[in-house]
Amino acid sequence: MYWCEQAWLPDGVADGVLVEVEGSRIARIEQGPPGSAERLAGLTIPGLANCHSHAFHRALRGVAEEGKGDFWTWRDRMYEVADRLDPDSYLRLATAVYAEMALAGITAVGEFHYLHHAPDGVPYSDPNAMGHVLIRAAREAGLRIALLDTCYLSGGIGAPLAGSQLRFSDGTAERWAARAEALAMAYEGQHDVEIGAAIHSVRAVPPEQMPVVAEFSHRYAAPLHVHVSEQRAENTACIEMYAATPVQILHERGALGPRSTAVHATHLTDVDIELLGQSGSYVCMCPTTERDLADGIGPARSVADRGASITLGSDSHAVIDLFEEARAVELHQRLASEKRGHWLAVDLLAAATGHTSLGFPDAGMLVQGAWADLVSVRLDSVRTAGAARLEAVVFAATAADVHSVISGGRRVVTEGRHVLGDVGSMLVEAIGSLR
Ligand SMILES: [Zn+2]
Repeated sequence: MYWCEQAWLPDGVADGVLVEVEGSRIARIEQGPPGSAERLAGLTIPGLANCHSHAFHRALRGVAEEGKGDFWTWRDRMYEVADRLDPDSYLRLATAVYAEMALAGITAVGEFHYLHHAPDGVPYSDPNAMGHVLIRAAREAGLRIALLDTCYLSGGIGAPLAGSQLRFSDGTAERWAARAEALAMAYEGQHDVEIGAAIHSVRAVPPEQMPVVAEFSHRYAAPLHVHVSEQRAENTACIEMYAATPVQILHERGALGPRSTAVHATHLTDVDIELLGQSGSYVCMCPTTERDLADGIGPARSVADRGASITLGSDSHAVIDLFEEARAVELHQRLASEKRGHWLAVDLLAAATGHTSLGFPDAGMLVQGAWADLVSVRLDSVRTAGAARLEAVVFAATAADVHSVISGGRRVVTEGRHVLGDVGSMLVEAIGSLR
């Protein structure tokens, strides 16, 4: 039994809220006196959903800042890290990265996973060895995981695979599906794991192979995520080759819909925006990565106005702080439009709790029957003191203001410390061993 000084409930912020947890779920939630319940200070919100992650990119934080590199030179640095990972080192790195996420109030991650095989492209003795370690890492760190098993077949539009990309590929979409199915079977009935599908991008999956991946998503009622129009160069190459935008191709190949998430969606046409909205797709914005990689500012307000739901991801992990991602959606738009007030704090916080897009529909709200994910944020820190409650969290707090995290009924963070110990040291060790 927990007693929240303040809690964000579906109809607003309430004072003095008792939460009874049974197993992994909220059994009862109501306003009342604390009694003997454990006290949660500050504002308690539902666990956050990090809807787009590549765990290994965390090893690149701050190491590709010299000189005049662009997205594509950053990608070369990323491949260098990818070349060095094996199941043991990836387990250590991902456990530390997911623990960093837990410290930031994240209770579910969408891991867009394409590091499938050994560096020479040969499958491990268990072809899903890398997927298994990511799931184990999430569990050890206290997160639910949507393992978005990614189909990756070509090195660019009309280009063969080369170098590091060999380990990303199963050769054909059919062989990808066979491997992903084995993974889905291995976790059937395990509610903290969702095996989803991903099309890496129009650069890495030829259009004729896309329906196989979409079919997997339909058959298992599983999420389907895809990188879309992150860089203008992708759109240019796509239009040159297919006379259609990436969104149009995904639409034509049955890859948009209420289980689908378009990640980035930075450079869209009006037709693209209509297609994403009408299909009821999610759009996952990753603003701290998009600014880090000089991608641009996506039309979040326009796609939401046409019917798409916005979710958030820390993607390359230049920053792991969903409060920063949430406010950046509004603040970047202010810079671009020279106008304020595109989003309310409550809507940005809803975007930060997009668990449904990961296949966890009964999470992201403090209601009876939901996953017992309770994240408590200090309202008396130097950053948050004096700010209005919900606005304090969205426009002032950082991940460092999260002091307590209960994830699926399990206590993961107490007084800002993770149950696994010193997460900074875990990251130093895991990243250091890759250099
Ligand atoms: Zn990504």
